[in-house]
Amino acid sequence: MSETDRSLSTTPRLFVPGALAAGAAISLDAPQSHYLASVMRRQPGDMVRLFNGRDGEWAARVTAVAKKAVALVAEQQSAPQEQVADLWLCAAPLKKGRIDWLVEKACELGVARLQLVTTQRTVVDKPNLERLGAHLVEAAEQSGRTAVPDLPAPLPLERLLKSWPEGRALIFADEKGGEAMAATLARVPAPAAILIGPEGGFTPDERAAIRAHRGAIALSLGPRILRAETAALAAVAVWQALNGH
Ligand code: SAM
Repeated sequence: MSETDRSLSTTPRLFVPGALAAGAAISLDAPQSHYLASVMRRQPGDMVRLFNGRDGEWAARVTAVAKKAVALVAEQQSAPQEQVADLWLCAAPLKKGRIDWLVEKACELGVARLQLVTTQRTVVDKPNLERLGAHLVEAAEQSGRTAVPDLPAPLPLERLLKSWPEGRALIFADEKGGEAMAATLARVPAPAAILIGPEGGFTPDERAAIRAHRGAIALSLGPRILRAETAALAAVAVWQALNGH
């Protein structure tokens, strides 16, 4: 590792919405400025790593520091844009705390999209997408991702199934039994999606509708009933190990 690489690996890493290119001027918002100026105590001349989900990661130099307004200029690309394995996690919204944890870990494990799905037994009506989106950004910042997973509006299960894209495998984690995990996931490359039920599981009608869906693959995650968030992460981690990055 070169001296530059070593110092960059310890520099703060932030998501910014604007375009990144050599010479691009960036103004941070108030919370990020506070973080850099007051928490990380960065000064003009210090380096920061920036990414925006599109242009890779950039080494940027701090040019001005005020409590609520830090300015930087991007100098050179420090990492290319990540090649994201095309895996969606489709999961029912869970209670606060559990869903926050799931969102963070799903981002760390490299999902391309987190699609929330409402089902008959879903207990959380209106998930807070703003809070969940902020967790995705934070997880991308700390895990070195240059892509932030998409977080579209939640969809009822019926609509999700009706609008299912041609060619995307639908891997359905079925606690009542299905095909063995490792051998099955090894033969289901991208584009794929893993569907996980809510705390109370899917209703019999929902299970039947999913199983009847063109191309659905019912998957068993083993003999134990896992919490929804454990099930989601186990399936995503194994899929990534076999097909992803
Ligand atoms: N209340 C349900 C029951 O007792 O049968 C359990 C639901 S489980 C907490 C939530 C979701 O995790 C399920 O809908 C399923 O998608 C997934 N899941 C949990 N354990 C699983 C397993 N052993 N195999 C496949 N999927 C599992």
